[in-house]
Amino acid sequence: MLNDASLTFLTALLDAPGPSGFEAAPARRWRAEAEGFADEVRADVNGNSLATLRAGPAGAPPIMFAGHVDEIGFMVVHIDDQGFLWFEPIGGWDPQVFVGQRVSLLAREGLVPGVIGKQAIHLLEKEDREKASKTSDLWIDIGAASKAEAAARIRIGDPGVLAGGMQELPNGRLVSRSLDNRVGAFVVLEALRRLAARRPAVSVTAVATAQEEISAFTGGGARPSATGLTPLAAVVVDVTHATDTPKVEKQKHGDVALGGGPVLSRGSAVNGRVFDLLVEAAEAEGIPYTIQAAARDTGTDADAIFTAHRGVPTGLVSVPLRYMNSPNELVALEDLDRAARLLAAFAHRLTPAADFIPR
Ligand SMILES: [Zn+2]
Repeated sequence: MLNDASLTFLTALLDAPGPSGFEAAPARRWRAEAEGFADEVRADVNGNSLATLRAGPAGAPPIMFAGHVDEIGFMVVHIDDQGFLWFEPIGGWDPQVFVGQRVSLLAREGLVPGVIGKQAIHLLEKEDREKASKTSDLWIDIGAASKAEAAARIRIGDPGVLAGGMQELPNGRLVSRSLDNRVGAFVVLEALRRLAARRPAVSVTAVATAQEEISAFTGGGARPSATGLTPLAAVVVDVTHATDTPKVEKQKHGDVALGGGPVLSRGSAVNGRVFDLLVEAAEAEGIPYTIQAAARDTGTDADAIFTAHRGVPTGLVSVPLRYMNSPNELVALEDLDRAARLLAAFAHRLTPAADFIPR
């Protein structure tokens, strides 16, 4: 299971605010942790952080383990005459989630607290009470008494996240914002920590990738990091919807249980041999797992990595998560431990001569 040092690291990662494009705080914490056991730790211009363990022949390509370190958030686009801030989402929000929340803005001189404002129900016209809120109907109140006062504290383009700390629940369950995908960034480094104690036959680079939540058209930070590494193979670690909550159609979304172990994707973004090796590693280690179908894209960094450079054989390991893209995402700690164990076992099954070409 995860030891106290790992849990302290996870908590620090979760608490550090880092919306897409502004991941410096969690990325710094990730690199500081990696310094304790990796042979080389560095950052790149896109905001990615890379930690390498060297093994095998010098110059041979590494395996890449990638977990995105950014989270969804929002950005200030306008300060009005009364000092209220108007904002746009960073990433895929349900605007209903914004209503009634406290926020933390990443301003020039540190974090600025605020609340999201909306007209009280009593003030709404009857027909508007049933309507879903749009982001454009909401604003942020930082307690400023004037436009000048707000502008002295906040600049256009300042990002923010919803406020709220981590909370442990019974049965090893953890609630927090940013679990998507600090848990992935955590798992890839946790796997590297375990491999440092018993080295595999190939080098391994764990990457905390940037900008995944806004990567659909750009490849985020994952594509340039994979292009730069030209890895032998890559495994992406992200979260996926646990479907063991009320009202989810399993016929449509599959059968994924919280605490059911890592979820291994199959589909065109996933290399068949990488998938097979992940399954073999899970079975050899006695790690329970679920298979998930991804007939088209996966909605993760895997989509950017498998098409990077001249193509990278890529696998996708997901951690079951409830209440995605809310300030109260929920995971089971044992799934994090199992995912890290699976990645380490996968690395031990590879040699520099591994062949991933479908035949
Ligand atoms: Zn994610």
